[in-house]
Amino acid sequence: MSFLSTHQRLAISQVCQQSQTPFYLYDLDKLESHLTKLTAQNVVKLWYAVKANPLSHIIKTLDNCGFDFDVASSGELNQVLAQGISANRVLNTGPAKSKKQIQHFLESGVRTFVAESINQVHWLNQAATAHQVQLRVLLRIQLRWPNSDKNPLGGDSLTPFGLGPEDWAQLDISNYPALDFAGLHIFQWGNMLSCKKLAELWQAMIKPLQQVSEQLGFRLRILDLGGGLGIPYDHHENPLTWSNLIDALDNIKLSVGCDELWMELGRYAVGEVGFYINPVIEQKQNYGSNQLIVAGGINHILRPAVTNQAFPAELLRESQAPVQDYSVHGPLCTALDSLGTFSLATDINEADWLIFAQCGAYGFTESMPYFLCHELPAEYILKQGEITCVRESAAASEYLR
Ligand SMILES: *Cc1c(COP(=O)(O)O)cnc(C)c1O
Repeated sequence: MSFLSTHQRLAISQVCQQSQTPFYLYDLDKLESHLTKLTAQNVVKLWYAVKANPLSHIIKTLDNCGFDFDVASSGELNQVLAQGISANRVLNTGPAKSKKQIQHFLESGVRTFVAESINQVHWLNQAATAHQVQLRVLLRIQLRWPNSDKNPLGGDSLTPFGLGPEDWAQLDISNYPALDFAGLHIFQWGNMLSCKKLAELWQAMIKPLQQVSEQLGFRLRILDLGGGLGIPYDHHENPLTWSNLIDALDNIKLSVGCDELWMELGRYAVGEVGFYINPVIEQKQNYGSNQLIVAGGINHILRPAVTNQAFPAELLRESQAPVQDYSVHGPLCTALDSLGTFSLATDINEADWLIFAQCGAYGFTESMPYFLCHELPAEYILKQGEITCVRESAAASEYLR
């Protein structure tokens, strides 16, 4: 069975008739109905993690559906502001906040920050004092458990995101009068597909988080649980049920006793509405294995190389031919450029297109577009049934200097 609706298939076929290069398509109608469902509750305030997909039309759709915006760079901030969104609806997270960047954010009117280090707290207070403003600050906590099977996170690797409770304990909040310490931020899991597991994870964090806020001497008014809600990339996996998540979050909110629960969603907000459409170059048989070479690879869609997880794929054309497994490879001269193994019709050929689904998040802007000087992919949107090109494909001559 196809993952495409009839309407999506028609729109894609229309572009393929005129184009010979890979492109992305985002179904904004589907995005709007998905987001409307997510915001129809009063348990958790939702921010959109812009890094998942910073395309202007995606941001505007999130804006229309009631999301605010989590940005991690001046570039992302400018892109959000350029869509007419007010800076008081922006939250700044991220491990690298230079004094220069903080200055830019304050000048732009951003007043809500997640601080990930003692220096960040210090620099935010300095800049806020200079601007004569008060900032709302959440401290980002990184928890670790002793290595045992009780560790709710599975692994126990150290990251640069936030600080451990003992490192935060050195902070004397009375030294930062321009900062309102409103709460804590924690996010150290990703692409989770089990509501039960997420609920257990969140539950296990409550006590250590409460201890941090008590020790530092502020009330935990806001708890930000980051992102990490998954989408199925494999047909054996099932999607999360939003109403179950909301019930779990409601329980967490009650147990913590906080006024507000926040999340910044990336993948779960936009992942399922994007497709990457890729011309087939040829198939060949190599040491008894079927290989399919396609025009675009990890230069356009890097994620399979960094996660070792393929996006689902199918042939655009309907074929009556029997199927067999093909390993699909992009155009880069590196063995890393592999997009997965798929069961495809044996008559697949150079006139065909492969469609990859679940590509709305961590697609093009996460990739490595310049390597080997291929063209950049175009981007199309499907909105109120109409397909529109919002970014043309660009040849290497347009970006090389
Ligand atoms: C990337 C990121 C998110 C979004 O994560 P998803 O798993 O895509 O929902 C949320 N919060 C922060 C701080 C992030 O860096």
